[in-house]
Amino acid sequence: MNRNVLSKIAIILAFTLIVIEASARQAKSADDNSWWLTPHRLLQTNLREIDATMDTDQYVREAKDFGANIVLFNVGGIVANYPTELEYHWRNTFMQGDLVGEVIKKVHKAGIKMIGRFDFSKINEKYAAKHPEWLYVSEKGEHVNYNGQVHTCVMGGYQQDYLLKILKEALTKYPLDGVFFNMIGFPQTDYSRNFHGICQCENCKKSFRDFCGLDIPKHDGNPQTLRKHQQWKSIQVDRQFGRVRDLIKSIRSDIVICTYTTEHIDLIRKESGAPLGQETWDDVERAQWTLLTTENKQLANTTVHFYQMIFRHSAAAPYLHSRRVWQQMINGTWLDFYCIGPLQRLEDRAGLGPISDIYRFHAANEKWLLDTESAADVGVIRYDGDDYWGWIQILSENHIPFDLVSFKHSDLKRYRALIIPNGGDVRAGDANALDDYVTDGGKLLLSGRIPDGLKCMGQPALKKTWPQRHSMYVRIRPEDKAVLAMDGLKDFDLVHLRGDFHEYEPAAGTNQMLRLIHDVMYGPPEKCYYKSVSDIPALLVRKSGKGIAASFPFRIGAMYREWGNLGQPMLAVGTLDNLLQTGRRLKIESSPLLEATHRRDPKGQFEWIAFYNHSGRLENSFHPPIPIENVRISLETSRPIERVISLTNQKELTRTGTSSGQMQIILPKLDVFEIVLVEYGANRNFEFAKYCISQDSHTLLH
Ligand SMILES: [Zn+2]
Repeated sequence: MNRNVLSKIAIILAFTLIVIEASARQAKSADDNSWWLTPHRLLQTNLREIDATMDTDQYVREAKDFGANIVLFNVGGIVANYPTELEYHWRNTFMQGDLVGEVIKKVHKAGIKMIGRFDFSKINEKYAAKHPEWLYVSEKGEHVNYNGQVHTCVMGGYQQDYLLKILKEALTKYPLDGVFFNMIGFPQTDYSRNFHGICQCENCKKSFRDFCGLDIPKHDGNPQTLRKHQQWKSIQVDRQFGRVRDLIKSIRSDIVICTYTTEHIDLIRKESGAPLGQETWDDVERAQWTLLTTENKQLANTTVHFYQMIFRHSAAAPYLHSRRVWQQMINGTWLDFYCIGPLQRLEDRAGLGPISDIYRFHAANEKWLLDTESAADVGVIRYDGDDYWGWIQILSENHIPFDLVSFKHSDLKRYRALIIPNGGDVRAGDANALDDYVTDGGKLLLSGRIPDGLKCMGQPALKKTWPQRHSMYVRIRPEDKAVLAMDGLKDFDLVHLRGDFHEYEPAAGTNQMLRLIHDVMYGPPEKCYYKSVSDIPALLVRKSGKGIAASFPFRIGAMYREWGNLGQPMLAVGTLDNLLQTGRRLKIESSPLLEATHRRDPKGQFEWIAFYNHSGRLENSFHPPIPIENVRISLETSRPIERVISLTNQKELTRTGTSSGQMQIILPKLDVFEIVLVEYGANRNFEFAKYCISQDSHTLLH
């Protein structure tokens, strides 16, 4: 082969690689260098200064075996892990040679990227004594010295200027792939949670006075001044990060900037660190909401190995970490795990296996995981509160994949059905958006008070709100059961109703379902019965334009969340599926303890259904989940399927039948997690139709 041909091949190969890499990025990527928009697998072994003596070959080997393709490594700030030449940068006294220099060569050779960690919030007391003007001053007028590290202030010369010198030195000396900042902004407490208040240093005083002409307040100062102080702080942090970004990107534009804020950075860092987790679906929410509401950024939400700051060496439950990492990964964000010290020195290692299982699964299946979009048919308007979390639980337990939806950021028409928890909180402008959605053919399901200004329910007059303390029930009549068509409702003629019930005068054209029972006596058992069932509806349904809306005039999600009565989710799901006839593409029959997520290839070549098994949790313990057998999956598809495989073992799954566009699959056994991949054959460049409600013809109720 002559040189000409070879160079042509090289060009073609290079081009092909570029195309492959580009296609792996999220479509929203605006910058060719934005490699971080593709989900990575991050391992942060937050080094103590004594860890400078670790075995660096073993460090790299462990990171690789763990499945990480990027490490977050302590470079500078409080302690420099390289031979810095800067006068006020504390060189690690445990280090011999150049730790950063040695490790970055080795990790890069192993195909692992490195983000450098910097913490400029504190400085060694030796240097602090020479530059008191760099330091934070408490409301008592004191510096804060924490184990020899003294708090610095954002407005002082160290964070304003010296920080740039340190960054410049590190970034010109080492080919770091990214920079992470810890403890940014204006902290008011120390690691022992002692409160020191608003910084009173001369720099802060002067800058604040220049900003608004006022003296800098203390934390209990005039509320108006405190509001000004908040504004001033945001401006200062924004200005500082702007300068930091300019410097970093002037050195190399492909260096990712990562921290806990959103402006001037590329990769948002968050932490899941509550010892027992927070909400079961907390990481689903963080992942979905962050990606939805921040444009052109990615999220690295770390699962924190340890319980709390004061117990940094003892770990939260292995299968809590597993759940968090899975929920992040499956919603398209980075995988991120954080522990203290290198893995070789970890003294509580129980979680490493379950976390690493997911990292390695991701590594082995990048082809199917790096560039996907949600295929959920149902959107849930995100509000904080009991009703919202109850709805999330209802959907999850019934294997109904959902997207969290924002009026500002989401395209509502993309969803076959929208659920509005706590409807009374919907603002007028947003109610108009819901009306448009229904007019165009959307299916709307409301819970709680009907939003003011919403027209599709006919604006019924509110006659009365029955209070929470009243003993009430919802009667499920035979005719309701016939429409809701949920087998399990055969055992329920009523469900309890606790919480405000809003009695409406239904508007014309409203179908009235379920009935309120409020005439209830309670006390001694002999006197515990009700005398009548009212004709007040507990479910209102109304067509509007091409669509339809249904409303539970009570917070059914909140009620389920409180006591977990099994009748309530059946009313909710029956309404969604059989009354509104949402026509979900995906149906799953399995234990409620299985969480399902549905995503697809934006280019239309595959879609998948992911499962996580929650069955290991009992009280405060998260044990290995109990295997679940025979998960039945039914997926509506009109396209020829090439194969359906389990990604945990790459084995083909048997299709038990494909009739009238419904594909039936049985997953014989599921341990902790699984992804069922449906790969399409012909029309490889087919794109999934972006579901749009106005395309849908729907059947209306009787
Ligand atoms: Zn200050």
